[in-house]
Amino acid sequence: MDCAKVGKLILQLRTEKGLTQKQVADQLNISNKTISKWECGLGCPDVSLWEALANVLGADILKLLQGELNPNRPDVGKMDRIQFYVCPVCGNILTSTGAASIACCGRQLQPLLPNTAAPKHTPQIEDVDAEYYATVQHDMRREHYLLFAACVNDDRVWINRLYPEQSPNFRFPDMWGGGSLYLYCTKHGLMKYELDVLLNRNRRLQEKPGNRHNPQPFRMRIASSSDTKSESGSKPF
Ligand SMILES: [Zn+2]
Ligand SMILES: [Zn+2]
Repeated sequence: MDCAKVGKLILQLRTEKGLTQKQVADQLNISNKTISKWECGLGCPDVSLWEALANVLGADILKLLQGELNPNRPDVGKMDRIQFYVCPVCGNILTSTGAASIACCGRQLQPLLPNTAAPKHTPQIEDVDAEYYATVQHDMRREHYLLFAACVNDDRVWINRLYPEQSPNFRFPDMWGGGSLYLYCTKHGLMKYELDVLLNRNRRLQEKPGNRHNPQPFRMRIASSSDTKSESGSKPF
């Protein structure tokens, strides 16, 4: 452990929090001389104090041990960079729009990547009163169900929590200007669809020359060979 680095970080975090050495020392039941010693790099905090010290300073304990915070560059505000995380223990759904160290139930969580090998539960979308209604063919038993659906575009995110033993269908608002629809299945993970394709809006697709998308009505699209192939001979989940 690099005591000089750790000490500098303790000083930085303490100053950011507006705490004096004595205030930190009092919360840890130690003398303020000890804090001063750490901050000068003349010794590292005892391991028994790490957790309390991380709490007092509001810091990630691992980063504190490494003596580095490695901050991200400022967020540029693009919501479509959103990443989803699901805790495998409690089912907590977390999101971030930049690199983050996210933990739940003692596990470090990795951002979910769309599972391109998952069965295609392509939602069928209907336009209902300025909203959309998505019908999904998917199991909703406790051992295999959709945990959430999300719509994302560059400035908004909409998340619908879904529950076992209930319908996998959901309504969602018009997300103006395309974006993506995500479904998260407890067995197959994250599935991603382009809203323009689901809604048969070809505006964006037509701009790309040589796009393989065939602009036909949506109901025809869901019966396309790519979908039936992946589900052939099996139940739709
Ligand atoms: Zn958890
Ligand atoms: Zn599934």
